[in-house]
Amino acid sequence: MKAIVTGGAGFIGSSLVKKLIKVLQYEVLIIDSLTYSSQLDSLDDVSDDKLFSFIKVDITNEESIEEIFSDFQPNYVFNLAAETHVDRSIDSPEVFIKTNILGTFTLLSVALRFWNTLNDSNKKHFRFLHVSTDEVFGDLDSTEHPFTEEHNYSPSSPYSASKASSDHLVRAWHKTFNLPVLISNCSNNYGPFQFYEKLIPLMILRAARGDSLPLYGSGLQIRDWLYVEDHVDALIKIILSGKVGDTYNIGSNSERTNLQVVQEICKILDELISDKPKGIESFYELITHVEDRPGHDKRYAIDASKLNKELNWHPSENFETGLRKTIEWYLKNIQNIDYKANRLGLER
Ligand code: NAD
Repeated sequence: MKAIVTGGAGFIGSSLVKKLIKVLQYEVLIIDSLTYSSQLDSLDDVSDDKLFSFIKVDITNEESIEEIFSDFQPNYVFNLAAETHVDRSIDSPEVFIKTNILGTFTLLSVALRFWNTLNDSNKKHFRFLHVSTDEVFGDLDSTEHPFTEEHNYSPSSPYSASKASSDHLVRAWHKTFNLPVLISNCSNNYGPFQFYEKLIPLMILRAARGDSLPLYGSGLQIRDWLYVEDHVDALIKIILSGKVGDTYNIGSNSERTNLQVVQEICKILDELISDKPKGIESFYELITHVEDRPGHDKRYAIDASKLNKELNWHPSENFETGLRKTIEWYLKNIQNIDYKANRLGLER
């Protein structure tokens, strides 16, 4: 089988590519423009494999994408390429509109033309899986039932609004043109190789250096956390066995406030690092609160019972085991990551 993975040099995409090659023995072609959040070294395990290929290209570049589809002849397309950081979408929304909306539109247009060239059997088995987020559903209050697939869209940030728009386009390409698509909406991911601007890696890396651990506002915003490899397993199940045109929510009933997440990180670091950074006896002392992000949603939570029941998907990690693995990985790789942070000139 042949799969195109857009955004395959990113956090979730690279984990997916490794599984497709190493476990399923698929031939994989990555399409990725290598933005600041990409990490090519996350693909070191498979980059010499004969099943692996990579093309540096922007998903909005229609001519190149058309040529790539025609040359590679994919059976499956996993669309993960996106701008993904909410804070950046507030500072500079344009690139989110371009990549997340126009990029998805370009991929759908090319995929449809490609699909129409296929013979009946290949046409029947072709799938386009669009990887989206729970943030499209907006804010939940503490008593509301977690998001089901039927929950209304009500995005709050430019990021989630751009992802919501792309989900609508994908559904329209199915309803209007019959393109065999699927959509997944997943909760917050964490794990190795996540770019360090996101909450969990940022807090681990700052703590290990003895820097403050800044939480937005009260830190009581609730997110539902999923280990990246469990997300990848769900994506593979969905593309192989999901019902065409359907949406699947992915999550693991692991709701935590951001404060609880950071406290859990501090607890594990206290255990793992006996030689604490100068001036502290426990990592908890580094927790601080800063002005809240505008439009910050209070709670996201996912009801994944459709995926559990219909596709028999269940996560293999719980938050405690997954977080410990993640922290151990970051501590082992911290020098390399510090080097990158300096090289990129980003705030550390
Ligand atoms: P990431 O930022 O780590 O990776 C995104 C990848 O896309 C990068 O390699 C980047 O170079 C590439 N990319 C960006 N713009 C591109 C363009 N115009 N053309 C080609 N490539 C481009 O993101 P991630 O966390 O791995 O997220 C992957 C997907 O999963 C996204 O669509 C995101 O919305 C979705 N998602 C993420 C989470 C999460 O918690 N990380 C949760 C649910 C859904």
